[in-house]
Amino acid sequence: MNRREFLGAAATAVGGHNKKSGAESRSGLSLALKGRKNSGIKRWDVITIGNLSRNRYWGESEDRGVRSAICSCTVISGDGFHIMVDPSLKDEKAMATELDRRTGLNLDEIDVVFITHQHGDHHFGLKHFPKAKWLAGAEVAAGLNKSERYGKPIVPADDSLFEAVEILSTPGHTMDHRSLRFDCKGLSVIIAGDAVATQDFWVERMGYFNAVDFDLSARTMNKIASIADIVVPGHDNHFLCL
Ligand SMILES: [Zn+2]
Repeated sequence: MNRREFLGAAATAVGGHNKKSGAESRSGLSLALKGRKNSGIKRWDVITIGNLSRNRYWGESEDRGVRSAICSCTVISGDGFHIMVDPSLKDEKAMATELDRRTGLNLDEIDVVFITHQHGDHHFGLKHFPKAKWLAGAEVAAGLNKSERYGKPIVPADDSLFEAVEILSTPGHTMDHRSLRFDCKGLSVIIAGDAVATQDFWVERMGYFNAVDFDLSARTMNKIASIADIVVPGHDNHFLCL
């Protein structure tokens, strides 16, 4: 192929691609957005982008972990409140540094910490927030309190937080798993916890290796797909739910 032929082929390919992506983005932007513009949520920030201890989509065996897991940790901010979801870091200084780096907040400015489920990597950093109210779904709260791991009770949460964030039952990874959903600037955002492990797991509607019910995990992900524009998974960066 000479230069002229190459450039011609490239132009055709680009034109074809643009046409396709234009149609996709039109449907994605004008039809798929599910959130309300006016809500009590001003912004949300991912504090730590999580990773898995083993990732089948990276060619790793699920028999054993090959690295330490870190969960995705998010702060949801509204009028007069900051909610941290799944405090991820064991080390207090590291948790404080990441929170400051991403939001300018200090540990004592977090009003509520919400735990999505009982797996340890989703509350490694809970003890760094003694001034916050600690919340979780009723069964998760009961389980954590029974473990006597913390010197302060985790309080069972109702259906919403600050009348701006919905608490959704998202079973499959664990049966008592909860995710948080809210509207922000016209987008419906779900902090999924491990109901969605990573974007690769989402694409295949695949549960993580330790899921208690894989079929239910897939059904929960389909439910999330029907109500969310953006998903913050338990162990990955956030992504558009297209
Ligand atoms: Zn988990």
